[in-house]
Amino acid sequence: MATQHPENHHKVVIIGSGPAGWTAAIYTARANLSPLVLQGTQPGGQLTITTDVENFPGFPEGIMGPELMEHFQAQAERFGTKVVYDTVNEVDFSKRPFKILADEGSYTADTLIIATGASAKWIGLESEQKLMGHGVSSCATCDGAFFRNKEVVVVGGGDTAMEEANFLARFCSKITVVHRRDSLRASKIMQDRALNNPKIEFIWDSAIAEIHGSKETGVTSVTLKNLKTGETKDFPTQGVFVAIGHKPNTDIFAGKLDLHPNGYLKVTPGGVSTNIEGVFGCGDVIDHHYRQAITAAGTGCMAAIDAEKYLEAHEAQLTVRV
Ligand code: NAP
Repeated sequence: MATQHPENHHKVVIIGSGPAGWTAAIYTARANLSPLVLQGTQPGGQLTITTDVENFPGFPEGIMGPELMEHFQAQAERFGTKVVYDTVNEVDFSKRPFKILADEGSYTADTLIIATGASAKWIGLESEQKLMGHGVSSCATCDGAFFRNKEVVVVGGGDTAMEEANFLARFCSKITVVHRRDSLRASKIMQDRALNNPKIEFIWDSAIAEIHGSKETGVTSVTLKNLKTGETKDFPTQGVFVAIGHKPNTDIFAGKLDLHPNGYLKVTPGGVSTNIEGVFGCGDVIDHHYRQAITAAGTGCMAAIDAEKYLEAHEAQLTVRV
C-alpha cells in the first residue's frame, strides 16, 4: 500500500554541496524533482578554501573558489532546490524510502545522490594533531595571512602543494617545499610557477619526522629526515602546511555501500550507480584520478540524469507524496 510522507521526504536527496552536489541539484531541480541538498560540514566543498580558479570553463579571467560555489548554489536554488545546513551521520539503505539521519533531523529519500567529496590527508604525527591551528594547517587560503613575514614549510609535491606554496609567497618571507621524492607530481605550469618563485625553495627526498613547538609558541622547527640517506636534521620554521592529497569522505558508508580498497565509493565503470539501486555517487568521492571541479560537476550531472531515469522507471512502486 502506498504511504504518505511527511515534509522531510524528498524524491532526491543530495548529500554534499561541492561542484558535484550543486550540479546534481541544478539538473534534478530543472527536472521538477525538488531536490534537497544537505550541505555538510564544509558547505561549498573544497573550492571554498581555494583562491583563484583559472581552469573552470566559462571564466576567462578566472574566478575565486567561494564565488564560483555561490554561483552554483544560486543556480540550484533558482530552480527550487531546498538547501539545509545539516551533516549526515548515517543512512539506512535497508528499506525504501532510504532513511537519512543527520545532526538536525532525519529525512527520507526515494533516490540518494552521494557527493560528499574528499578531505585533506595528514602526515600522521601526534605533534601534527597537537599543533593543528597553532602553526600546522592544511589550508593556506584560510591561514596564510597569519604567517605574514614568517618562514614556513609546505609538505607535498602535487598541484595542491605548489598552489599553497605560491599563495603563501604573498605573505611569507620564505617557503620551503619538502617533498618525499626528487621530482614533482604537479602539472608543469604549477611546477614552473613554484620553481621560478624566488621565495620558494625545495628540499627533496625528505619527510617531516617531527614537528616541534607548543600551543603557546606555535611551531618552532621540524625534524627533517632524508629518505635516501636516513640522515635527520632540525630545520627552523614557524609554520607547516600539509598538502599531501585527500581522503574520500565515505566513513559513514563503510560496510553499507561497496567501496574501493582506498575508500573511494565504487560506481559502475563509466557510470555513477552504486551497488544499491537508486543510490548514485558523484564528484571527488568516486574519483581518485581526475579530482577536478569540472569533472565533479560532470559526474554530478550524470547522477542527476540517472536518478531522474530511476524515478521514472520506478514511479509505480514509489510512494505517494503529500
Ligand atoms: P596529489 O596529486 O595526490 O599529490 C599529493 C602529493 O603529496 C604527492 O606529491 C605525494 O608524493 C605527496 N604525499 C602523499 N602522501 C604523502 C605522505 N604521507 N607524506 C609526504 N608526502 C606525501 O594531491 P593534490 O596535490 O592534492 O592534487 C589532487 C588533484 O587535484 C590532482 O588531480 C591535481 O591536479 C588537482 N589540483 C589541481 C589544482 C589546479 O589545477 N589549480 C590545484 C590543486 C589540486 P608522491 O608524488 O611521491 O606521490
